[in-house]
Amino acid sequence: MSLEKLDENECSCPCGNGRIYRERYPDNQGESKAILPTIECSKCKTKYHIESFSSDGKTFDIYYCVQNDYPPYERYINPKAYFEGRFEPEEFIRTYNIYEMDIEQYFVENYSKNLLIQVMSVLENYSTYNKIPDNGIGSKARELVRRYKGWYNTQRMSTVIQSIKKSIENYSDYEFQFDKRKKIPVGYNSYLDEKKQASLLLNL
Ligand SMILES: [Zn+2]
Repeated sequence: MSLEKLDENECSCPCGNGRIYRERYPDNQGESKAILPTIECSKCKTKYHIESFSSDGKTFDIYYCVQNDYPPYERYINPKAYFEGRFEPEEFIRTYNIYEMDIEQYFVENYSKNLLIQVMSVLENYSTYNKIPDNGIGSKARELVRRYKGWYNTQRMSTVIQSIKKSIENYSDYEFQFDKRKKIPVGYNSYLDEKKQASLLLNL
């Protein structure tokens, strides 16, 4: 893997005495991989942190400087319970940069084990992507093949099947397995919108 930097960028920190610095490196598929920007200011570091958001659902390339004491989502959906310390998260929220995980983990975090098993049995019947019927579970199978291609730039059926098989076998080893997650509630998006509005969009 090449460690040659693709590019770098910086902008001023909120107090103006330091900077926020961002660099990008290629990942092992030659695509750019953003590294979360760092706040290089001792004063701002105690007050803020950086959060990344996605513009296209694939890369997390939009950065906000968020106040460290910005209320967590739990407080947003049930403020009273949150303050009384009796909040039980109803939903599991996880944000991540998909390029920081391998494809097996991505499958586990985004598909049920049952679905992976069904998809595998479909894929085993077809030698190429184009032959997979684009309906029902076939459409799902196609989706997973496309995802695989996004990682490894190949859709060779045997390697895709191998990865899905690995995901199925190790499914319960993953902390954030899909089967243990609940759907992200509607309110989460408006929470994010409000948080973005209250935060500083970084020109990086
Ligand atoms: Zn500063």
